[in-house]
Amino acid sequence: MQFQEIPGLAQTKNLLIKGVQNNHIAHAQLFHGPTGGAQLAMALAYTAYLFCPNKSATDSCGVCPSCQKVKKGIHPDIVYVFPTFTTKKITEPESDLFLTEWRGFLQASPYRTLADWMEFAGAEGNKQGLIPARDTRKIVSKISIKPYEAPYRVVLIWNPESFNAESGNALLKPLEEPPANAIFLLVTADVQKLLVTIISRTQRINIPMVEEPLLAEYLEKNYQVETEKAHQITVASEGNISLATEKAQSENMEMATWFIEWFRAIYRKNLVELVRLADKFDKMQKDDQKALLDYALYIFRQSLYQWSGNERLIISYDKERKFIQNFATTINPEIIEKFSNKISEIYYQIERNARAKMVHLDASLQFIRYFNQQ
Ligand SMILES: [Zn+2]
Repeated sequence: MQFQEIPGLAQTKNLLIKGVQNNHIAHAQLFHGPTGGAQLAMALAYTAYLFCPNKSATDSCGVCPSCQKVKKGIHPDIVYVFPTFTTKKITEPESDLFLTEWRGFLQASPYRTLADWMEFAGAEGNKQGLIPARDTRKIVSKISIKPYEAPYRVVLIWNPESFNAESGNALLKPLEEPPANAIFLLVTADVQKLLVTIISRTQRINIPMVEEPLLAEYLEKNYQVETEKAHQITVASEGNISLATEKAQSENMEMATWFIEWFRAIYRKNLVELVRLADKFDKMQKDDQKALLDYALYIFRQSLYQWSGNERLIISYDKERKFIQNFATTINPEIIEKFSNKISEIYYQIERNARAKMVHLDASLQFIRYFNQQ
């Protein structure tokens, strides 16, 4: 994880970086931020920066062995502590027994919540996550070892609100008097639930919500959401990056599904289906109709990249990418130009309040003709 991968929060990043550069590195830090916020991502980027032998004035290098290990969650000088639970096989849960799942979770997204983790790790029913005293007692022996390769040993405790009284108390002494080279990073979205005795032993690092326009930009860039929609999602998610990316992803998936259905029907000259899709389009809000048209233009562009062998320019994944690969075998630049012009025409007609159903159906028939003319 690098700082530059986290959207916005320039001031916070700067503060953390300056701290390392000036060697002001508190041995116990509490990264707290909103639910679904950037606190875990920041703690990871901070650790990578702290460890990286090739760091610049603004970020870790991202490519050295140390950075790579932090990224994969396998750096030997990071001790992860997080909530766990009992399973059929594990009757005495502790973080070390869930490391594989934890790494997968980190790779997928560092913005997710405790509920997301429990689901990801396979907790059944309404099982509660807990950091048992077994975990905290092990920390003591783990930090007494000298760092293997990094300048420090970092104990990253995610969701310390999952301590119970016993495990929390077992942490007080190591927090108070950690061995040299040991750094505790506690990461929380709920400071209120922490033991006061823990809070008072840490330096608090406030991780604010990512600035709205910057989060919107991040969604636009990484999830191909249209500008207007990205802003809507950002506002509705109230700074919860996890929620925002989830919404952006499903938004994209929906548009991909819609487009694929549409062009399949065109290809098969399935008029019944085309009428159904025109009806569906008719019932949408104007903004959603326009977003879909923008999306169609985006798919056309991507398909041209594929067609011309510039696959590296394609930024789609999964279902969308597969579709583009197939679609590209049926098109050429001339037809894409015709398609794009037609889409712009629909856009204009919808702006002028033409009946969306008619406009859409007309376009479908026109697209069939274009394919036939080839
Ligand atoms: Zn590096």
